[in-house]
Amino acid sequence: MTADELIQYLSWAIYVVIFVNVTVNAFRRPLPANIDIALYFTAFAVVIALTVITRIGSVPATDPLLGAILISFVLSLAYLLVRLVEDFSKVPRWIKLLSEVSLVVLIISAFVYSPPRPTWLSLLMILHLVGFLIYTIVAFLRESKRSSGVTKRRMAAVAAGSIFLCVDFIVAGFGVALPEEYTTTIQAITDTLGLASAISYYFGFVTPSLLRRAWQEPELRAFLGRAASLPRLPNTTAIIEEMQRGAANAVGAPNARIGLWDDDKKVLRFSLDEVETELAPAMNLTTGRAFLTQKATFTPDIARDNPLYADAAKANNATAILAAPITAGEKRLGVLIAYAPHAPIFADEDLALVQLLADQAAVILESRALIDEAARVRAHEEVALLKDDFLSAAAHDLKTPLTTLVAHTQLLERRALRTPDAPVDLASIQKLGKEVQRLRTLVMELLEAASAEQGKLIGKKEETYIVALAQEICARHHSARHPCLVEAQEPVVGQYDPIRIFQLVENLVENAVKYSPDGGDVRIKLWHDTGCNHLTVTDSGIGISREDLKHVFERFHRGSNVDDRRFAGMGLGLFICRGIAEQHGGTISATSAPGQGSTFHVELPADALREL
Ligand code: ADP
Repeated sequence: MTADELIQYLSWAIYVVIFVNVTVNAFRRPLPANIDIALYFTAFAVVIALTVITRIGSVPATDPLLGAILISFVLSLAYLLVRLVEDFSKVPRWIKLLSEVSLVVLIISAFVYSPPRPTWLSLLMILHLVGFLIYTIVAFLRESKRSSGVTKRRMAAVAAGSIFLCVDFIVAGFGVALPEEYTTTIQAITDTLGLASAISYYFGFVTPSLLRRAWQEPELRAFLGRAASLPRLPNTTAIIEEMQRGAANAVGAPNARIGLWDDDKKVLRFSLDEVETELAPAMNLTTGRAFLTQKATFTPDIARDNPLYADAAKANNATAILAAPITAGEKRLGVLIAYAPHAPIFADEDLALVQLLADQAAVILESRALIDEAARVRAHEEVALLKDDFLSAAAHDLKTPLTTLVAHTQLLERRALRTPDAPVDLASIQKLGKEVQRLRTLVMELLEAASAEQGKLIGKKEETYIVALAQEICARHHSARHPCLVEAQEPVVGQYDPIRIFQLVENLVENAVKYSPDGGDVRIKLWHDTGCNHLTVTDSGIGISREDLKHVFERFHRGSNVDDRRFAGMGLGLFICRGIAEQHGGTISATSAPGQGSTFHVELPADALREL
């Protein structure tokens, strides 16, 4: 066997393998594209069979009938390729017609003119083959550019196979016209081109799975690359939109949509540009079928299968639809659908990709659900913690005055029983009164903290002179241990709720005194600048650590340097102060360092007209 023969047999073997594969596939899935592919390779198989018949000498190679039949099948190759192109894109009617007429006329001529045939006829035959082949090559290349994933590469391989075949025909055609000494060279070239074409077609039509995976990788990788960050997007809608975009890119489809299953209403929910549509899954719709059967499904022609959707499909430039279920374990989450402007030629391939993406979508949606669930649990825990905080703070603070009250009342009772005529114990009654007052303050604080939370602290506003107010508070708390002074160069006036502003300043002054156990000045400064009234309360007490400073205005927060036995309190005063300042449209802040005293700064809008 010569090298030439070896090459030829090898290419024949490859063609036969392709023929068997695509024929089986056409029987399994009798879609137009699969049938046309099978017909194309049937023509190859017949050409090979006839050549073999002449080789083994059953029929002489010079037999005119055999020659005409052989030529007919070769000529039909170009026509069948045009049919195949029509399965995935639009072929102008005149080209289709021309290919049919040209095929019929040339086949008749092949039978009418027995060899040696006139040169013009041979030229016309080559023109037919080469012309239509070039047309289909361009169509395949264009489709390859348009599509993505495996389809893109398979289309390119098919185009390459046709290019080799086309050049093969050209070389063979011109070879006939060359002197005899070139025959072996021409033969070697055409055989090699035949092999190249067979290999390319093999990759294009019977793609080995290893290659398939490699070809799928870039698109899949791009999608997966983004997938990791998707669950952290702010909401599920943003995730869905991003996945739809990614899926459309990966599949090379103009549009992809995700429908989420609503188990209460038993519908699939699609949202597009903030418009929601619901679809009750039904077996007669591709989307419903994919969801109900839990199998990736495709419809090559929406208009034909679901005439109801014909107009919508046309408006969206969609001819075919691919749908895959999004499922995590047993949990049916929804469907992923991709629309394509043409029926996909390698539908199984695209369907496998859509299913892969749908599986990824399931992972992403599940991760998101887990993140949401974790946040819910955390919020729940925080609320529970807050309740605990509240209860322990309230119980603890209410307990001390209550114990004193109970003890004193019992004492008074015992005394009264023992010596009913004894004079009234004024000191004890005063002590009782003080404790009741303390109890009342605590209860008020608790109630006010709730109002602060709800933004309902402020009552009627009126012209309020803060300097006068501060002086009154200062006088009340002034002592030799804690001299209190007010510094103000001008009247500081605004429309405020005077009771609350009083409470705010008093709270700060009380704290300044309370947290300066070794005594020291308490200074209140007031001033005014454009549109703002300012008030600061400064002490030289125990101060606040940097870490505590961030939290002192939060409910129940008490400084780490504050011990409950020495400094009574619930950690609500500053929270209420912040509520008062903010609900007047102002702010409150603090600067301090441990052991260095503290300054609290309140800033209120001078015209505080904002009604809250
Ligand atoms: P309470 O005084 O009941 O604890 P507050 O809300 O008034 O509640 O204050 C919260 C915490 O801020 C206090 O526990 C204390 O640690 C810190 N704090 C407030 N004012 C001062 C101050 N003038 N000096 C030092 N620490 C202060």
